[in-house]
Amino acid sequence: MSSYKIIDHEYDVIVLGAGGSGLRAAVGLSEAGLKTACISKVFPTRSHTSAAQGGISASLGNMGEDDWRWHMYDTVKGSDWLGDQDAIEYMCREAVPSIVELEHYGMPFSRTEDGKIYQRPFGGHMRNFGEAPVQRACAAADRTGHAMLHTLYQQSLKHNAEFFVEYFALDLIMGDDGTCEGVVAWNLDDGTIHVFRGHQIVIATGGYGRSYFSCTSAHTCTGDGNAMALRAGLPLQDMEFVQFHPSGLYRQGILFSEAARGEGAYLLNGKGERFMETYAPSRMELAPRDIVARAEQSEMDAGRGIDGKDMIHLDLRHLGKDRIMERLPQIRQLGIDFLGIDCITDCLPIQPTAHYSMGGIPTDKYSNVILDEEGTRMKGFFAAGECACVSVHGGNRLGTNSLLEAVVFGERAGKSVLEYAVGIDYGNINEAQEKTRVLEKFEDVFQRDGSESYNDIRDEMKEIMMSHCGVFRDEERLKVCIETLNGLQERFKKGKVTDKGKLFNTEIYEILELGNMLSVAQLIATAALRRKESRGGHFRTDFPKRDDENFLHHSMVYGTPDGLVIKPKPVVITKHQPAERTY
Ligand code: FAD
Repeated sequence: MSSYKIIDHEYDVIVLGAGGSGLRAAVGLSEAGLKTACISKVFPTRSHTSAAQGGISASLGNMGEDDWRWHMYDTVKGSDWLGDQDAIEYMCREAVPSIVELEHYGMPFSRTEDGKIYQRPFGGHMRNFGEAPVQRACAAADRTGHAMLHTLYQQSLKHNAEFFVEYFALDLIMGDDGTCEGVVAWNLDDGTIHVFRGHQIVIATGGYGRSYFSCTSAHTCTGDGNAMALRAGLPLQDMEFVQFHPSGLYRQGILFSEAARGEGAYLLNGKGERFMETYAPSRMELAPRDIVARAEQSEMDAGRGIDGKDMIHLDLRHLGKDRIMERLPQIRQLGIDFLGIDCITDCLPIQPTAHYSMGGIPTDKYSNVILDEEGTRMKGFFAAGECACVSVHGGNRLGTNSLLEAVVFGERAGKSVLEYAVGIDYGNINEAQEKTRVLEKFEDVFQRDGSESYNDIRDEMKEIMMSHCGVFRDEERLKVCIETLNGLQERFKKGKVTDKGKLFNTEIYEILELGNMLSVAQLIATAALRRKESRGGHFRTDFPKRDDENFLHHSMVYGTPDGLVIKPKPVVITKHQPAERTY
């Protein structure tokens, strides 16, 4: 520990993460005059949110009648009735003012001819409680997340939020009475260690898609915040629910947004058939993602992929050059850059790809992190965005509800901090003990001189998650998956580090991320094994039906000295009773 230069900081609030959710929290907090530090392992505008293409949902009604109640119903149904309806109602009601606020912040939305925000159709977005499609996804061409992230970054600079960029958070600092008191981070640039104390902490570290071989997420999405929460003794919720997106670029995972299908693109199998007619005749290509991804996988498993391969065609040709250039320019460019295929004249090869993490750090609808199935709040600790599970998505997220979640609950985290902040002081911590705990673990990684290759461990984790804990799951495969992950955890301790340098050591950075992903992968597989039913993104071929009698509850996974323990937490049902989910 003595070999590190340690720099201490004191702030009113620490926001860990500078994606859509972290930045939205930082804007509100800094605007209110709180001394706010925002820590990010990448430059804020390189956060994963930047990759979001299709849109952000709100019932503005710019392209036809809409209503937040319909949005709420669609979200509940999309979640396969696992979403908490109090939180869903809050999000759908807040959606409209949140978009107007983004517009006033200067977000460059696409426009209709009469100057309103353009809205496109998306999977599962319907009018009048499931009657007919509605255009609800507010879009900035197919670069919505990019536009949003830049807008929020500019606003947070305006209000003097302080950024610590390329600082890798190692762990949370825990107080004597189990509160979260700060964050220890490693400045990649100069190798110094920074201890950030805050009266309150907001965690917004994004998802964990990189645990899978084929995924659409940025390289930063390694579940660091989730693993930190687990190490701090917190439970994680609904980790078994991972969304597979139907249109990842074949073998590379890069996303072709649902915006393409929203604008009218078809899905074709190897026989040239629009096979969605068999699986979701009323919504076709615009059924929710879990349904479309399973339909594609079923076609491929039945030998009806393109050229007999694990590949489906996304056909945009009939949309015409003008519409593609105006509404989907990025998708076209991705096809050209990565495959040399121009979607104006040819079909794009796609396959289902890990895309979104429905599970995460449990919170209530005020973004307070909760400690147990009873909803006991943890003092001074808030979570928002993809690392959190406020459970608006339940078993499956509807497209464009995630940017919305990031903005609405990022803002809410800021408001909750402000409500809680009055008169609060730093909690008690055993500072020396906490610093030693975090830094000894960090130093231990530097010293690893075993025989195992971390690259091999990473590849094997991603492969087993894809093949054994992917679109289709069953008991046998999940058990193999868990056993393999246990073995990888053991090998992880015996890896070899070749670069011992302290400055911008990307080898260590990636090993730390791998450690976090391994923890998260074990949570996913263990929770998936316990849930003996099929719901939303979690499909068990050995239990292909939804089982409300035994599984209409959230899974709370706790790390204990005896291993992972899972307890059920009730679903909040206020308006819509569970019903069959058909499209
Ligand atoms: P992120 O944007 O991932 O931000 C996480 C932040 O945490 C980053 O700043 C990162 O640097 C920081 N961080 C993480 N770990 C550490 C650490 N150890 N130390 C320091 N900092 C750390 N949703 C929609 O609603 N509409 C869409 O059109 C849409 N399109 C998408 C397209 C793609 C390709 C993908 C993969 C997802 C899409 N989504 C979309 C989902 C949506 O983009 C994400 O869920 C959302 O952006 C997550 O925002 P976030 O703020 O929670 O996390």
